[in-house]
Amino acid sequence: ARRPILAGNWKLNPKSRDEALALLNGLSPSPSDVDVLIFPPLPYLGDVLKALPAGVQVGAQTCSNYEEGAFTGEVAPSMLASMNVGYVLLGHSERRTLFGETDSDINARVLTCLKEPNLKVVLCVGETLDEYEAGLLNSIVDTQTRKGLSGVSAQDLINGRVVIAYEPVWAIGTGLTATPEQAQNAHTVIRNTLAAMYPSTAVAESVRIQYGGSVKPESIADLMSQPDIDGALVGGASLDAASFNAIVGGA
Ligand code: 13P
Repeated sequence: ARRPILAGNWKLNPKSRDEALALLNGLSPSPSDVDVLIFPPLPYLGDVLKALPAGVQVGAQTCSNYEEGAFTGEVAPSMLASMNVGYVLLGHSERRTLFGETDSDINARVLTCLKEPNLKVVLCVGETLDEYEAGLLNSIVDTQTRKGLSGVSAQDLINGRVVIAYEPVWAIGTGLTATPEQAQNAHTVIRNTLAAMYPSTAVAESVRIQYGGSVKPESIADLMSQPDIDGALVGGASLDAASFNAIVGGA
């Protein structure tokens, strides 16, 4: 069975270090049978790493596709790995739509991160409302998965170095959650893509797929009851420690 993975994406919140540390202090230690992960803003990473609740892991919300050099403002995967940051979130729909990241940009970041032996990647995919209504869910999710994972080895996937997060854009921050059945359907599309890309059946069976989009304490249990939903990527509700703890506890 795949180990559940619950993640909180803080996005551009909270606005100060004190508020970030207060949020962190409210988080419960991770239960031993799940992975719990937070993605705080980069300036807080050092302090967060010092005050982490037991078992909780830390990720960055994006990173550079460059390894080092004259690239003002960028943060390299090796820098994150050397800080004991364990994960990088890549391809979030906000990065795609607001900051122009393409599938090939995202793939370059994935491959650069995987060169660092201690870094894992959470790769986000998901269709917009227009795409959903046009019946394009399957093709969008298939294409984003294929392009995002281009050049990633079967062994890295079997070793759990990439988690996929299915986040329908129409469900992000809108209060509209995909139904457990809709999410399960999309997760099946992703698993079928993995099965088509990699001859080893172990790949499609082992890769963990999170659902993201308005996940709340009330919705987590039904989502997790679906066979191909292995966790959640939580935005808004992760900014309230009690809500995030309840999501982890309910998974
Ligand atoms: P919300 O939970 O606020 O809808 O955000 C989901 C998300 O984008 C997590 O990455």
